[in-house]
Amino acid sequence: MPRGFRQQINPLGLPARNGYPVRVLTDIKSLSREELEAQFKVWGEPAYRVPQLLDWLYARRAASWEAMSNLPKTLRAKLAESFSLQILELARKQGSPDTTQKYLWKLADGAFIESVLIPANPALYGEASDRHTLCISTQVGCAYGCRFCASGLDGWKRNLGVHEIVEQVLAVERVCEKQMLEARSLMLDKAAEPDAEVPPASRIQHQASSDRVVNNIVVMGMGEPLANYDHLIKALKILNAPWGGGIGARRMTISTSGLAPQIRKLAVEPMQFRLAISLHGATDEVRNRIMPVNKKYPLHELVNACEDYQRVKGRMITLEYILIAGINDSLEQTRPLASLAKRLYAKVNLIPYNKVEGLPWVRPADEVCERFLAALEKNGVTATLRREKGGDIDAACGQLRLKTERELKSAPLPG
Ligand code: SAH
Ligand code: SF4
Repeated sequence: MPRGFRQQINPLGLPARNGYPVRVLTDIKSLSREELEAQFKVWGEPAYRVPQLLDWLYARRAASWEAMSNLPKTLRAKLAESFSLQILELARKQGSPDTTQKYLWKLADGAFIESVLIPANPALYGEASDRHTLCISTQVGCAYGCRFCASGLDGWKRNLGVHEIVEQVLAVERVCEKQMLEARSLMLDKAAEPDAEVPPASRIQHQASSDRVVNNIVVMGMGEPLANYDHLIKALKILNAPWGGGIGARRMTISTSGLAPQIRKLAVEPMQFRLAISLHGATDEVRNRIMPVNKKYPLHELVNACEDYQRVKGRMITLEYILIAGINDSLEQTRPLASLAKRLYAKVNLIPYNKVEGLPWVRPADEVCERFLAALEKNGVTATLRREKGGDIDAACGQLRLKTERELKSAPLPG
């Protein structure tokens, strides 16, 4: 067995049982194809078993070893003895299949994380929307404590493992597949009724389970992705690999609050991920007030790192700018913001602030946001403004978890 795969003793810092450390197995979905091949070689298993296993994991999204019916029982037993196969447990879900859906997952150690599925084209007839973006988390909580954000409110608990990042895509797809099968059987029942008005059968065909529901990934959920760098990159490589998720690297966006050294590291990664910077302030004065990370990596350092990234990658960076009333929404701010955007050849995404319970910040009036956008455009900057109303479901990541953890302190989760 290759070194390091056997069993990591308590890497999550779980409590010891009877004075002995708890035995925690490496999860199968944190291994690359090459690592699995090396493992199978040590076991004397034929090489063709590896693609069979990968098919079960990433195309069929198998939830147990038993389900892998074309693998011999002896191999399944060896796998179960050596690796875990963790599945994210759905604790809560908000939203309807046609709109943004928020998933709250319970992890093996009881911690909660969120993923948000955003359809590009709403489904009109109960069929699957053809493009979906999934917003994924990389940590439990966040250490960076931006003043406006729900994810950092209760501090940082731990990094997610590679498999926990990868599993968010598979777990969402398992739920969607179940929904689709239920909707399909409901429609077929209706179609059997006399004079039924239902969509043509071609629209309600079941998708092959290997079809991806998720075809874009944004790493904008809970946590600072670049503070969990190695797990993030390995997970994205697995989600990108043809034997894994098969999702193009150009369809993956990593968002960071501005960890300058890691931005430089990302610049020399061979993969063409997209990069978004959570700027939210175009001067140190504003940024220092709302983002403590700016004390460590002030704007000049962040911008230098972004310039280097831009030079090496030749790719456009996106600057995210939440509009918060009275903090960063004055027209004066558009000038330094425009000059930063032009210097970095960056596009600006304006996002009206989503209210977080317990925090004092509010979103500016619609006219203020429109004026801010117009001033940026007048300055020659490519910018967009998110205009949909910030209903509960569209609120930024971290809030459902926070709400659930606080509720759990007084009462257990229903169902
Ligand atoms: N830590 C990374 C990625 C997760 S946060 C980062 O900061 O970029 C993803 C995005 O959500 C960030 O741009 C963040 O600033 C934004 N965000 C956090 N709280 C928000 C809120 N209440 N309303 C709108 N956007 C929010
Ligand atoms: Fe962490 Fe990003 Fe939230 Fe800041 S905005 S606290 S870095 S998750």
